[in-house]
Amino acid sequence: MREQFEVRAHDAAGRVGELTVPRAGVTVETPALLPVVNPNILTVEPSRLAEEFGAEILITNSYIVRNDDDLRARAEREGLHEMLGFDGAIMTDSGSFQLAEYGEISVTTREILEFQREVGSDIGTPVDIPTPPDAGRERAEADLETTAEALADAAAVETGEMLVNAPVQGSVYPDLRERAGRQAAATDLDVFPVGAVVPLMNAYRYDDMVDAVAAAKRGLDADCPVHLFGAGHPMMFALAVALGCDLFDSAAYAIYARDGRYLTVSGTEHLSELEYLPCSCPICHEHSPDDLRAAEGEEFERLLAEHNLHVTFEEMRRVKQAVRDGDLLELVEKRARGHPAMVDGYRALLDHSAQLERADSASKGAFFALSHESARRPEVTRHHDRLGRLSTPDRLLCSEYGAPSDHEYDAVWRVVPPFGPFPRALSETYPLTAETPDRTDAAAERAAAEGVAALADANPASEVTLAHDGWGADALDRLPGSVATEDLSGLGSGEGE
Ligand SMILES: [Zn+2]
Repeated sequence: MREQFEVRAHDAAGRVGELTVPRAGVTVETPALLPVVNPNILTVEPSRLAEEFGAEILITNSYIVRNDDDLRARAEREGLHEMLGFDGAIMTDSGSFQLAEYGEISVTTREILEFQREVGSDIGTPVDIPTPPDAGRERAEADLETTAEALADAAAVETGEMLVNAPVQGSVYPDLRERAGRQAAATDLDVFPVGAVVPLMNAYRYDDMVDAVAAAKRGLDADCPVHLFGAGHPMMFALAVALGCDLFDSAAYAIYARDGRYLTVSGTEHLSELEYLPCSCPICHEHSPDDLRAAEGEEFERLLAEHNLHVTFEEMRRVKQAVRDGDLLELVEKRARGHPAMVDGYRALLDHSAQLERADSASKGAFFALSHESARRPEVTRHHDRLGRLSTPDRLLCSEYGAPSDHEYDAVWRVVPPFGPFPRALSETYPLTAETPDRTDAAAERAAAEGVAALADANPASEVTLAHDGWGADALDRLPGSVATEDLSGLGSGEGE
């Protein structure tokens, strides 16, 4: 049991939880955003990150601090909290990023963890090997061995109350990610960053990112807090939280600001091209696009960075509320519409529907079917599993139209795409209270037909008849031959409902 992390609410594989950080004496609500603070360039003062933006935790790079004589002397004298002016929790990175960029760093896991502890870090990081996405399998495996050694070294270092990260690598190989997750979870380390996904996100490979994270999650335990390392664009928070990520860090707010890039929840705009600011944060409320463009140098960067932070923290609050309300997947769906690559990410998420279903809460507010992708949500998978366990009477009518006024069936069940059939007694239970469009799409019909098939297959001795509203051949082809069908679409609408 990992006592530092407690889950308070679930939706899909997403959760709202509490990470206790003993050395800082604080409890951080997750999912949490850690602004990346470059100790050399404080674009926004860390004290303001806490007071004005609500940051409970930030991340800075201990390798940069250790390699700079002035910063190192100050950190050793004052400690990171005083040096940065931040009372919340501070996570420190180890230089693995520099290792990935420059191929070599001059520090061992033991040295960097001892340094992190000495300067007052609350969550330290060993030196792991971030294997890039398109590395060959042999290299990915060899790197994973090295990372496993780093984790063993980290576990052997006396770190006191400091929590320690156990990075999960494995590139784009799902079995390696899963193995890495299992190895990390088997240590007594505390927080689990999924590493080296930044190149995937930079290349808009959200589907590959989803597969890598889903694989890592299969190896990790449910009580492992998971950090999606380097993920700071608000566009993908809902997607990543739905996969079960709990911590995010953003360098994007500052790096994008430097380039005049303006973050929104559906993508990135260039300030140079904006005639209006589609945001009501204090910066956008008080400035016109021309005002922002007229600002110079550091002031320009700071203003834009503050907008970027506002929109980022706002989205994280929205995601947390969605987990509490049970409509996180509706939010994922909305965000997916911002970019075709996000649609790929959403579709990849639904490939893992059964995995999400295991963590999902069985009862939520209301299911909104918003697109043909909704037919692949975990709630539909779960209903189909349940249909395979229900027993039916000898003669059953499954009908989209309700019961005929005169019939000889033993029972009449409702049929609602994308779920399929269910006894009337379940009509008021989640997710069958779903709001669905009247203009049913082909994917919902197909999913409903698969539900009828699951029910009929489980009850071979029953005679099952399906009365449907003009379903296409593609759906009807999924029914076993034993199911009789009636197309009632020409007969007017839903009497009996
Ligand atoms: Zn704004």
